[in-house]
Amino acid sequence: MLKRLVAFDTTSRNSNLDLIKYIQSYLDEHGVPSTLVPNAEGTKANLFATIGPDREGGIVLSGHTDVVPVDGQPWTTDPWTLTEKPDGNLYGRGTCDMKGFIAACLANLPAFQRARLKVPLHFAFSYDEEIGCLGAPALVEKLVGSVSRPQAVIVGEPTMMSVVNAQNSGGGIIATFTGVEAHSSMTHLGVSAIHFAGDFIHWLNELQGELAQRTRNDIDTVPGHTTINVGIISGGTAGNILARECTLNWGYRTLPGDDPWEVQRRAEKYVAELLLPRMRARHPDANITLRRRSFLPPLKPEENVEAVKLALQWTGGNRTYSVPYGTEAGIFRGHGIPTVICGPGDIAQAHQPDEFVARSQMDACDAFLGRMVQWAER
Ligand SMILES: [Zn+2]
Repeated sequence: MLKRLVAFDTTSRNSNLDLIKYIQSYLDEHGVPSTLVPNAEGTKANLFATIGPDREGGIVLSGHTDVVPVDGQPWTTDPWTLTEKPDGNLYGRGTCDMKGFIAACLANLPAFQRARLKVPLHFAFSYDEEIGCLGAPALVEKLVGSVSRPQAVIVGEPTMMSVVNAQNSGGGIIATFTGVEAHSSMTHLGVSAIHFAGDFIHWLNELQGELAQRTRNDIDTVPGHTTINVGIISGGTAGNILARECTLNWGYRTLPGDDPWEVQRRAEKYVAELLLPRMRARHPDANITLRRRSFLPPLKPEENVEAVKLALQWTGGNRTYSVPYGTEAGIFRGHGIPTVICGPGDIAQAHQPDEFVARSQMDACDAFLGRMVQWAER
């Protein structure tokens, strides 16, 4: 199953429909109806399906179908061909993040169907997680509106099958700087959007330094403070022209329990009160806008106690963990359903060239799903 899923190039910029149609026909063959929740353009879709009785107290198994690009990465295997090496690892884009979990769910479908389930199991597979969890909100809303209330969600992002009950919140913002073009020898006639974007990046660095001082002891996330990253910068047309436009695609991650809006608020204040007035003093047509691209709510430990209890029972673990990265968990939790993150593979391999999941992790995931089914039969 993992081999089939990896063969679909579901990089977020592509349609995921071929993969979704494959999953849908696989479910059809097993007599399981599924529901698609497409995007506005109809080019992508989420999918959910229910196995077992329509009853409250089911378990949602959640995964995203998209993967990050392989562009420019030095892969030594074909990223779209699952390759097992003698080291016991299965290589391919998405093996760890996170087609491994989806494959385990689908491969176990016959076992789920054989079981005498007292509560249902729900599959919830999304698109565009990797570019800001854009698909999941509509999926979760439709799922919650269509099925009897589930009691827990397992988001199968790579955690080495450890139970994660806390994650940072995250925000993605597009900053657009509009300057005024001029010949680069005539800097007094224009305003370089790039130079002001540079000032903004410098300010973000200073802010990051300040926030890094504010560590907390009550949470074991590493690093234990808010982080900021400018991921893409683009602007300018020639070396001898003052750039008219520059955009920054940047974002931040905030510890659960901290104010998830602080960074955005302070950025807006800095732009409005200091940076934009300085830019406009050079030319009245200059402008800066900050547009929110994505927001991911945090996952707070105290809100997920019931899901933790179940997941620990199925992993055999005895403690929980926190992670600094964002997942769709906060979106499910936002609908009031206790949620944990628990899936095969190590996040250290995610987004990397030669991404892999260890076969032993896939086995551990199978064992986890096996214990979950036994519990659902009780
Ligand atoms: Zn992921």
